[in-house]
Amino acid sequence: MKTHKQIKDWGLGLTTPLIIAGPCSAESPEQIEKICLDMKEANVVPQLFRAGIWKPRTRPGSFEGIGEDGLKWMEIVRHHLNIPITVEVGNAAHAELALKHGVDVIWVGARTTVNPFAVQEIAEALQGSDVPVMVKNPMNPDLDLWIGALERMHAVGLDKLAAIHRGFSDAYDKRFRNKPNWSMPIHLKRVWTGMEVINDPSHIVGRRDGILEVSQRAINFGLDGLMIETHHDPDNAWSDAKQQVTPKALREILNAIDFKEPLENMKPDERLQDLRRAVDHLDDQLLDILQERFAVIDQIGEHKREHHLTVFQSNRWKEVMESRTQKGMAKNLSEKFMKELLYSIHEESVKRQEKQLRESDPVKKA
Ligand code: PEP
Ligand code: MN
Repeated sequence: MKTHKQIKDWGLGLTTPLIIAGPCSAESPEQIEKICLDMKEANVVPQLFRAGIWKPRTRPGSFEGIGEDGLKWMEIVRHHLNIPITVEVGNAAHAELALKHGVDVIWVGARTTVNPFAVQEIAEALQGSDVPVMVKNPMNPDLDLWIGALERMHAVGLDKLAAIHRGFSDAYDKRFRNKPNWSMPIHLKRVWTGMEVINDPSHIVGRRDGILEVSQRAINFGLDGLMIETHHDPDNAWSDAKQQVTPKALREILNAIDFKEPLENMKPDERLQDLRRAVDHLDDQLLDILQERFAVIDQIGEHKREHHLTVFQSNRWKEVMESRTQKGMAKNLSEKFMKELLYSIHEESVKRQEKQLRESDPVKKA
């Protein structure tokens, strides 16, 4: 198992839920200062200040970031807010400059995570430093690319790692700028134990309204923090104007969120323990039933073998699928869940029966 240091052990005094805020792009020293002062005034100082210094833009001609000068302005943040700073890097040169200017945490953007050469180059440029790295999900919903980028960092010895969930582009579904696809960050947490995932509702929603709702969902699912783009004058921001919020609006959003108590921090909870015992028992029953079902499937397989029948019978499959889906939906189970469950059970049945045929076939066996 890959071991890494969680946010609380990065040595920066950070805790979860981690709140990151700051502008999409650093624009001028005055802009950075104004945001800091407005944050102070609104009494909403984040734990980590974000600012885009190099902006990977989809089309040329938009503002592509202020570059190295912007890194010098980060002193203004330290002076007014005394908090650590995070910036995005997109190549090795950016990574070297970020280290040179003492950036506290580096993040890899979605357009970079899709490119293993660029990720590798960044990892090698950061090698030997102790800088924490957060990796945004790739543009497309490919969990392996996301994990792969984290693994490239880990492989060069960077062990202060976290992930950022900023949603996935979708050509058809335009409700979001980037569709959240919640199963992705959750699956990342399943397969990489202890990996913390920060939600970025700003790039998911793409508009100011909706940020609260997505943030609350992220917290409800058990994600580990929020990165919210914050600007003193969002409408006139040089990038992502529609989705940035003022420090005052940020405070309102954060105040409205019902942050859950992490289970680990809670006193033993009798009621939860009882309910979990009930679930354990039901899962045992479910497994017994599945075992029984596959024993009957094996008998059907044997019968098909004896009578020279093929494994897959499309009429039967159609009937099973339709009738079970209807029954499941009547029991308040979703159609999507029923279909996925039945596909999975049916696939296992077909594989078992095909194996039975193969094992009794003298040609294939030889
Ligand atoms: C950003 O954080 O401003 C940014 C460019 O995000 P993403 O990589 O998620 O598009
Ligand atoms: Mn942005």
